[in-house]
Amino acid sequence: DFGLGSWPARRARINPARTALVQADRTLTYAGLADRVARLAGALTRLGVRPGDRVAYLGVNDITVFETLFATARCGAIFVPLNYRLSPTEIRYMLDDSGATALVHSADTGDLVAEAGSLPDGVVIATDPAEGELDFEAEAAEAGPAPDVAIQLEDPCLLLYTSGTTGRPKAAVLTHGNLTWNTVNQLAHLDVLGTDKALCIAPLFHCVGLGQITLPTLFKGGSVEPVAKFDPGTILARIGEAGITSFSAVPTMLEMMCRHEDWDRTDLSSLTCVLYGGSPVAERVARAWLDRGVKLLQGYGMTEASPGVSMATHEGTLDHPVAAGVPHFFTDVAAVGPDLTPEPLGGTPAELLVRGPHVFGGYWNRPDESKASFVSGDWFRTGDVVRVDDDGWAHVVDRVKDMIISGGENVYPAEVEAVAVRLDEVDACAVVGVPDDRWGEVGAAFVVVRPGAELDETAFRAHLEQHLARYKVPKHVWFTDALPRNATGKIRRVELRALAAETFT
Ligand code: AMP
Ligand code: MG
Repeated sequence: DFGLGSWPARRARINPARTALVQADRTLTYAGLADRVARLAGALTRLGVRPGDRVAYLGVNDITVFETLFATARCGAIFVPLNYRLSPTEIRYMLDDSGATALVHSADTGDLVAEAGSLPDGVVIATDPAEGELDFEAEAAEAGPAPDVAIQLEDPCLLLYTSGTTGRPKAAVLTHGNLTWNTVNQLAHLDVLGTDKALCIAPLFHCVGLGQITLPTLFKGGSVEPVAKFDPGTILARIGEAGITSFSAVPTMLEMMCRHEDWDRTDLSSLTCVLYGGSPVAERVARAWLDRGVKLLQGYGMTEASPGVSMATHEGTLDHPVAAGVPHFFTDVAAVGPDLTPEPLGGTPAELLVRGPHVFGGYWNRPDESKASFVSGDWFRTGDVVRVDDDGWAHVVDRVKDMIISGGENVYPAEVEAVAVRLDEVDACAVVGVPDDRWGEVGAAFVVVRPGAELDETAFRAHLEQHLARYKVPKHVWFTDALPRNATGKIRRVELRALAAETFT
């Protein structure tokens, strides 16, 4: 077994006494983790989990997620972490879609589990059981040894539902090999050490939380501290007090931290790298971190690539504060040519193709969508428009689907939004397309003004007109208190598009 489930025992052979996971007053060494994983794998087997079965998980970031992830992998089963902020109906859909036969959940998601319904032919296991619930700990105490299964690197390890900002959520199937190669890629790019202490802030049901720094740190034998609930002040305090070296975040988290009242007096000197990805960052936010001497590195990727595609470098990030860096070591990138064949990527924005041993093979039970997502053999169509600058650094321009075609011209909402948030008064901005009789489509901007600041439509427009071609300036402007976002900070454009269509047409 060279799969993910073998990682704790392999590391324990080298550094048994090093801390693997730490959370409040609980610390687990690599030897301790290896032991727990073997026991929990025994418990899952005792409860009927077999190779290839799906084990769903609902809970906040904590040590138990890691134990269950590795134990599931150790059984040759497939881990399916679910977003606990979803509604019972959405959870029900994912349980059915994945065909999960086991669901492990923490105490704080018990109500959600009760509402989402039971598993017809499966088991529901509580990590912190209430009266009458099946108890993971008790099962582990009674369990025999971990099963002896032969796991191949091409076997599925993880089903991750993509953010689902459009359409029906689908799960990317990531193999043990995909996750291993992503880890190798991250380590080839970053200076991760066995003495590192990484915070795990981004949710573990999303690829940024798991793949960007967490798995690479555990692979190297560093320690990971899961954080159940993001609070900017608490995280800032923790960095100084625990000597945190690294973490991955989404841009909204970075923004909340650098605006916090404790920001100026927080000691950030232990940080060797801070990674982020998932959506664009405002330049002023990137600058705030870089100005404090922190190596802030933008990563670009997607669930389907486990997730890393490109990343900023330690030596280049100051000169390219908001660029997505260069491709990972074992990653090939290209642009979609006119006949869907790969072409060299250049200065002209084009849809990006990606290929590498970390790129998935397809979606769970979606043969047609899986087939349609590859061209010229194994090139994955990212759906993202990307260009490279003169230094070879990638810039994520926007998603193909978000592009607005206004009077025959391409307008990238992300470009307009980046200009909008340069205004001090603007906290956030989202631009979506709405149908228009004259231009086919025009932009509608949703603008969140910073609390206490004042901004009217005329001043907002004047700013945009100063920096953008006329056709890019949204025809409609709407001031609002907040933008709808998903758990990883991505703007829910489907909702905004519906709202804009209703309001402006
Ligand atoms: P997901 O569907 O959750 O896997 O998110 C992947 C998508 O997030 C990508 O296809 C991009 O559209 C977007 N994304 C990821 N990283 C970045 C980045 N650094 N800048 C802009 N957009 C990004
Ligand atoms: Mg996607």
